[in-house]
Amino acid sequence: MQNAQQQVSVIGLGAMGSALARTLLSAGYRVTVWNRSSEKAEPLVAEGAVLAPSAAGAVAASPVVLICVATYEATRAVLGNAEAQPALKGRTIVELGSGTPDDARASEAWAREVGVDYLDGAIMATPSQIGRRDTTIFFSGSETAFGASRSALEALAGRAVYMGPQVSLASTWDLGVLSCLFGALLGFFHGARIFESESLKVSDLGAAIAEIAPAIGEMIKESGDVIPSGLYENAQSSVKTCALGSELFVKQAREAKINDEFPTFSAGLFNKAVNAGFGAQEAAAVVKVLRG
Ligand code: NAP
Repeated sequence: MQNAQQQVSVIGLGAMGSALARTLLSAGYRVTVWNRSSEKAEPLVAEGAVLAPSAAGAVAASPVVLICVATYEATRAVLGNAEAQPALKGRTIVELGSGTPDDARASEAWAREVGVDYLDGAIMATPSQIGRRDTTIFFSGSETAFGASRSALEALAGRAVYMGPQVSLASTWDLGVLSCLFGALLGFFHGARIFESESLKVSDLGAAIAEIAPAIGEMIKESGDVIPSGLYENAQSSVKTCALGSELFVKQAREAKINDEFPTFSAGLFNKAVNAGFGAQEAAAVVKVLRG
């Protein structure tokens, strides 16, 4: 017989919510699920999950409720309705959808009003990476909520990191990391077009990037140290060098007649920094034009 601590409800069964529920089932939890479109619960029910008749039923079923729907507005639509409200009091709610720091603060304020112990989470992984020892999820907000849900959260991610009581921490880290990732992905997609324009294999480019990723990470880490120090002199890669590199992407895009939006954007920012007089400084000096 499983004790109360091993009961978890998962609301939202999209790609991520389903992965969360499935991983908890595999780890031996009694999992109650609910999704707006009930058919998404069918495969999980076949694997042993209990389908709640409503979001309120899912909240009532377990002391810890994980919610992973598209947006914080959707979370509020699901949990903020009159039917779900009475069941919420005293529950630990862990928000695992993506949002902004303001979203997290608004959710915490709402949780206080309805008597919920609230933890904000940010998943730094894809659904197929859930449950791995090297998977990271950031958490912030109520420390007691983290304590109450910790064993389940550690089943989802070997690195379930509690960052502190300031509820906006997890979403701030999420957006900081995602900004870097999306910049890299867009750069890679343009790199894929460069390869296609020269009839080279895009898969080779992806594999090469994976190999040199630690060196790229080192450059980003150095920028992270340079920016707060304000010391941009003695450049290893100057703004001017990066501006010229970006202009090369623009030139190649025009020569090969491929989309030039990404190189134009990149060259635009580096050239803006050159025009502001930072050309000889370290590339990280671009942050000074972003500050406006
Ligand atoms: P998804 O597959 O598109 O699923 C979206 C989920 O949100 C579905 O359960 C959907 O219900 C529900 N939903 C949307 N609007 C709703 C509303 N107004 N009321 C009730 N339910 C609503 O998305 P996902 O990949 O699971 O992502 C869910 C969250 O996890 C997002 O915030 C995403 O940013 C975050 N996340 C995802 C990943 C990833 O790699 N997938 C990684 C990190 C974080 P229906 O089935 O009824 O439409």
